Amino acid sequence: MTEVNEKSQIRLSLSMPVQYLKGVGPARAEIFAKLGVETVGDLLEYYPRDWNFLPEPSKINQMRPNENITVVGMIESTDYQSYRRQPLFEALISDDTGVCRVVWFHGGYLRDQLEPGRIILVWGKAMLYKHQVQLTNPKFLVIDQEHSQSSEHFSGGVYPASSRLSSTQIKRIIAPVLENVDDLVSEYYDKDFMKKADLIGRKEAFAWIYMPPDEQKLAQAKRRLKYDELFLMQLGLALRRHKVQHYSTAGTCKCTGEIDSRIRRRFPFLLTEDQNDCIADIAGDMGRSQPMNRLLQGDVGSGKTVVALYAALLAVANKMQAAIMAPTEILAGQHFISIERYLRKSSVERILITGGFTGKKRNEALDKIKSGEINIVIGTVALLQADIEFRNLGLVVIDEQHKFGVHQRAQLRKQATPHCLVMTATPIPRTLAMTAFGDLDVSIIKHSPPGRGAVITRWVDRKNRQKAYDFIRERLRAKKQAYFVYPRITTIEQAGDVKAATDEWKYLAEKVFPEFTVELLHGQMLSAEKQRIMSEFRKGKIDVLVSTVVVEVGVDVPNATIMVIEGADRFGLAQLHQLRGRIGRSEAKSYCLLFAETENETATSRLEIMTRSNDGFEIAEHDLRLRGPGEMFSTRQHGLPDLKIANILDDLDLLVMARRNAFEMVEQDPMLVNTEHGNIRRALLDRFGDALGLGDVA
Ligand code: ADP
Ligand code: MG
Repeated sequence: MTEVNEKSQIRLSLSMPVQYLKGVGPARAEIFAKLGVETVGDLLEYYPRDWNFLPEPSKINQMRPNENITVVGMIESTDYQSYRRQPLFEALISDDTGVCRVVWFHGGYLRDQLEPGRIILVWGKAMLYKHQVQLTNPKFLVIDQEHSQSSEHFSGGVYPASSRLSSTQIKRIIAPVLENVDDLVSEYYDKDFMKKADLIGRKEAFAWIYMPPDEQKLAQAKRRLKYDELFLMQLGLALRRHKVQHYSTAGTCKCTGEIDSRIRRRFPFLLTEDQNDCIADIAGDMGRSQPMNRLLQGDVGSGKTVVALYAALLAVANKMQAAIMAPTEILAGQHFISIERYLRKSSVERILITGGFTGKKRNEALDKIKSGEINIVIGTVALLQADIEFRNLGLVVIDEQHKFGVHQRAQLRKQATPHCLVMTATPIPRTLAMTAFGDLDVSIIKHSPPGRGAVITRWVDRKNRQKAYDFIRERLRAKKQAYFVYPRITTIEQAGDVKAATDEWKYLAEKVFPEFTVELLHGQMLSAEKQRIMSEFRKGKIDVLVSTVVVEVGVDVPNATIMVIEGADRFGLAQLHQLRGRIGRSEAKSYCLLFAETENETATSRLEIMTRSNDGFEIAEHDLRLRGPGEMFSTRQHGLPDLKIANILDDLDLLVMARRNAFEMVEQDPMLVNTEHGNIRRALLDRFGDALGLGDVA
C-alpha cells in the first residue's frame, strides 16, 4: 500500500513513464509499451476507440413497457431456476421508488457476480410480464456504492482492449491523469483563432474525448484533437521547408529569352500549356538562391522528361551541372535514351552511369564529373548517392515513381543543396501531396501532349482468351507491337495457377504467335542483355515483349499499342495504371487487356475501375480508398509522426485548414519565438523535434 501512496504523490508530467502511474507496474508497463504507450503523454493520446452514451438513470417507477431504460438499483434477492427448459437467473432490484424484476435466460454464470447487496446498473428494454414491468436480458454493470449516482462509470470512452488489459482497467489508470488535464495540457491557440476556426479548447477536448457529455461534444472534441495532430505535422513540414529554403543557398540560374529559345529548339514539338506552366514554375524557382524543392506530377507519358530536361539545360546554360536519378537502371537508361534523342549534335556532355561501370572506366567518368567536363549525369539513386563528386551541381532531378519518400530525400540533400526537382508518375492524391510530400511545392501536368490515341481497356476472362489472342495477332500483322506482363518470372508451386513469364514466353513464342518474334525480359537478366532487348523492341525488331514488371517504368515505344497484363488481379491499381501508361503513346488506338480470374471483391473493383477510367488522379484516389491510407501511406515511413486520431482521407478539410494555418504561422514567425507560439513550439520540440530534424529551432 505504501508503494501506491508514494506513487500518487509524484507530480504528473507528460514525459513521465506510465509505469509510475497508480495501477501500472512493470508488467502492465510492458503491455502498454506494446500499444505504443510509454509516457503519460502517450496515454493521453491513446484515445478511446468507441463511446457509450447511456442515458441518465431513471427511477424504477418511471419504467414503461417497450421503452429503453437505464436504472440503478440494489440487488434484494436472486434466484436461479436451472430446471427449466431455458434456465433462468432472476434478480429483484430496488431503488427508492420501487422494486423491479430482472431476468437473464441461461444466466447461471451470473450467480457469482450478482449477489444480494450489490448495486448494479442495468439497461435494456422494459417489458410487461404477468402485469409487471420487467427487464429481460438487459446489459448490466456492477458498480460500487460510491459511484452509484454518477454516470461516469458506465458511459464514455471504450478502449481497444486485450485480454491482458481491459478497457475498464485502462479507464481506471487514466482517470487520475484526466483529473490533472488542466496542468498537463496547454492551449495552443488564442481565443480569436479558435472562434474563427470553430475549435473548442484543448483541455476541454481532452476531457470530452474520454467522457463526452453527448455526441455533439464528442464530435467537437475529435475535431479539435484531429486538428492539433494535423497542425503539428504541417508545422513540422513548414519548418523543414523553411529551413531548407533559408539556411542553404543554391546557384541562381538565369533564364533569358535567348537561353529559353535555345533550349526549346531542342524539342521537335511545341511544349504543351501544362508543360510551359511547369517550366515557368521551375525557372522561377531556379532563378532564386533558395534551393528549389518542387514536385512535378504528371501521369505516365504526360511529358515530364521534357520538363526535367529543360531544367537540366537551364542549369547547364548557367555553367552548372545537373544529375538525373531514377529508381532503376532500366529507367535511368530510358531517360538517357530520350535525352540523347533531344541532345543529338549538342555540345552538352552527358553520361549514363550504370552498375556495369567499374575500374578505369568508372574512374575516368568520375574525374570528368569532378572537373566539370560532364554537364549532365544520369544514373540510379544508389549510383549517384555513392562517392561521386561534382564540380558545381546546380540541379538534382529525382524520378521518384513512388519508390522513396521524404526521408531519403532529406538524406540526399545533406550532401549539397542544389535545386531539387522530384518527379512522380503515379499521380498523388491531394491528401498525400499535402502530407508525404508536404514540404514540396507542386506543379502538375494535367493533360498529355496531343496526338495520343484512345486506350481501350478490357477485362478478359478464360472464355475469351482465344479471341483476345486472335485480336492481338491481327494487330501484330498490322505491324504493331505488344507487351505481355506477368506477375512472376518463374512458376512457383505454391502460387497455384499464377502464370509466369518464363513459361508463358515459350508457350506464346511456340504455340500462339509462332510467326512473330517473341522475346523475354526480366529483372534478373544481365544488364547488357536487358539493354539489347529493349533496344531491339524499340527498333521494332521484336513484336512481342514478354516481361515482368520491369517495363513498369519509363519505357517509351509509341508503336507498342497492346498491353496484356496476366494475373491482373495480383497487381495494385497504381501499378496497373503505370503499366497501361506504356501504351497509348501514338495516334493509333491502343488496347489494354487485363487477364484475370478472380472473385475477390477488392481485386474486382480494381479491375472495374481500370476498365472505366484513364484518369490517373481518379485512379489514385480510388486506390487510396481501397487500400486505406495506412497501407499506402505510413507516416513513420515518411519521417512524420504517426497519426493517432486524424485520418488523411476522412479529414481532408481539417488537413487543408491545418496546412494553410501552419504555413502562415511559419511565414510570420519562422522560429516560433513569439510568446503566443510558446506552447506549440514546446509541443513540437517535445514530441517530434528529432523526427523532423528541428532540434535547432530552439
Ligand atoms: P513522362 O516522362 O511524363 O512519362 P515523356 O516526357 O517521356 O513523359 O513524354 C512521353 C512522350 O511524349 C515522349 O515520346 C515525348 O517525346 C512526347 N512528348 C513530350 N512532350 C510533348 C509535346 N509537347 N508534344 C508532343 N509530344 C510530346
Ligand atoms: Mg518518362
